[in-house]
Amino acid sequence: MKRVTLPLCALLLLTGPARAQAPAPRPTADDAVRFVDAAEKRLLDLTVEASRAGWVQANFITQDTEALSALAGERLIKATAELAKEAERFRGVAVSPETARKLEKIRLSLDLAAPADPAKSAEVTRLASGMDAAYGRGRAVLPGAKDGLTFEDVNRRMASSRDPKELLALWKAWHAVGTPMRADYARFVTLSNEGAKELGFADTGAMWRSKYDMSPDAFAQEMDRLWEEVKPLYVALHTYARTKLREKYGDAVPASGPIPAHLLGNMWAQDWTNVYPLLAPKAADAGYDLTKILETRKTDARGMVKYGEGFFISLGFAPLPATFWERSLFTRPRDRDVVCHASAWDLEDAGGASDIRIKMCIEPTAEDFVTVHHELGHNFYQRAYAQQPPLFRESANDGFHEAIGDTIALSITPKYLKQLGLIAAEPPPAGDIGFLLDRALEKVAFLPFGLLIDQWRWKVFAGEVTPATYNAAWWELKRKYQGVVPPEARSEADFDPGAKYHVPGNTPYMRYFLAHVLQFQFHRALAQAAGCTEPLYRCSIYGNKEAGRRLNEMLQMGSSRPWPEALEKLTGQRKIDATAILDYFAPLKKWLDVENAGKPSGW
Ligand SMILES: [Zn+2]
Repeated sequence: MKRVTLPLCALLLLTGPARAQAPAPRPTADDAVRFVDAAEKRLLDLTVEASRAGWVQANFITQDTEALSALAGERLIKATAELAKEAERFRGVAVSPETARKLEKIRLSLDLAAPADPAKSAEVTRLASGMDAAYGRGRAVLPGAKDGLTFEDVNRRMASSRDPKELLALWKAWHAVGTPMRADYARFVTLSNEGAKELGFADTGAMWRSKYDMSPDAFAQEMDRLWEEVKPLYVALHTYARTKLREKYGDAVPASGPIPAHLLGNMWAQDWTNVYPLLAPKAADAGYDLTKILETRKTDARGMVKYGEGFFISLGFAPLPATFWERSLFTRPRDRDVVCHASAWDLEDAGGASDIRIKMCIEPTAEDFVTVHHELGHNFYQRAYAQQPPLFRESANDGFHEAIGDTIALSITPKYLKQLGLIAAEPPPAGDIGFLLDRALEKVAFLPFGLLIDQWRWKVFAGEVTPATYNAAWWELKRKYQGVVPPEARSEADFDPGAKYHVPGNTPYMRYFLAHVLQFQFHRALAQAAGCTEPLYRCSIYGNKEAGRRLNEMLQMGSSRPWPEALEKLTGQRKIDATAILDYFAPLKKWLDVENAGKPSGW
């Protein structure tokens, strides 16, 4: 479900002597423009090269394609690092706002700043790739088993198992994957902070928070504000889930207090949709089964993608180019290994034309029907900003790309399916609470999780949390925000954050929290533009040209302007607004409040 992120954002290596050179003459504004122009061209060429290598690697997994892809990635990272360092020369030079923004983009494009000291730089690089690889190789070894399970296997079993003993064993076995990373992570934090300080940031966390067109502190405060807005809805969902899980699991789930983290159908308790069958309201049947309908109609992979394209055409977007259909991967090949995880790509040929594609092993299921719409959201975003200079060919901030894909998916309503002729009639409103509950278990349950990953890392990078309390601080945040606790006592011998990919993978996480808030704000604004007067969750913008126009106005800006301007284009608001989630789930909240009446709330 991810847009492909190029290694551009992976690592900053400061190479060569940093301070020993003779003072250079003070650069001029013209020098800055020349530097930016050359940097853009160089980065574009290397990005195209790395994208092509990455595409081939994901479509033909062999040792050689992996080596070639890694090589192209390293080349791009090295160039970006050099340019980020060079960009520092122009600090304080009076340049145009566009040039200033491009310099800032170059300076902020990486997630890890390595120290200038070559030995330390090599060490932090080794630690970063070592932890990433350790996670990738990670296997959950169950008691008595010889072989370990991959994460996919573990997660599949956690999704369907209702046996607390098995769930506990799976949970513990996977969390053991993090333990050996503990010392490496502590060293990694020290070194990456050194690099961030050399670039003028207080620490790595502050560097990450600097990417949002506002001060790092202001950004942190914004995230707190959004959380406070959505918290009552989350607490209501938590209270209801706890009651139902207690009916199923008895005293293993307390009547009040936090929920044991292994009983929510997901390794990190970040998505609760897998326990929907335990929580479903009576008579909540959706009234139709989209998977069955697609199967019966023998909808093939291209047909699935055609539905997605049709959605965007109905909004006024041009059809996908012929190259999309020729170059995308839609089905799992029989004769070779590919990365089937769905992704959207823009290989933008060096001539500047965008070359958008998806790579996905499509099955005729309701889930893939949604995913196709989501991935094409990325592609249409990429095509809309293709006319921007290369450094602005990205979403307004890193939360926007995922939010757009999800916004489109929110328009997959029964009404839309009826317009496509996939169902004969819209189901009666009786099933709406079931639909909303299912969606809340995905979207609302995620919110505190999306927030806390970087709450933890910000504190770690800032030195507020030290290695002596890594795990305790992690669970303190899990308890505070999610209201979950580990199924058994944990200690500082464990390193539970390491069992979540984005920590060893050093991928900032707040973007996912942002995306979960923004998508509802986008959906509400577009539904209003489309003149929808129904409850928000029943609104689809399918077929509405005005909504399409508003959407396109924002998409084509890319990241050329501060994100509040992009947000304003689409929504008329300059601030992120979590009230749209509350609007969307208002009928569910009302229903939950009735169900929860008289029960202890919160933890
Ligand atoms: Zn995505």
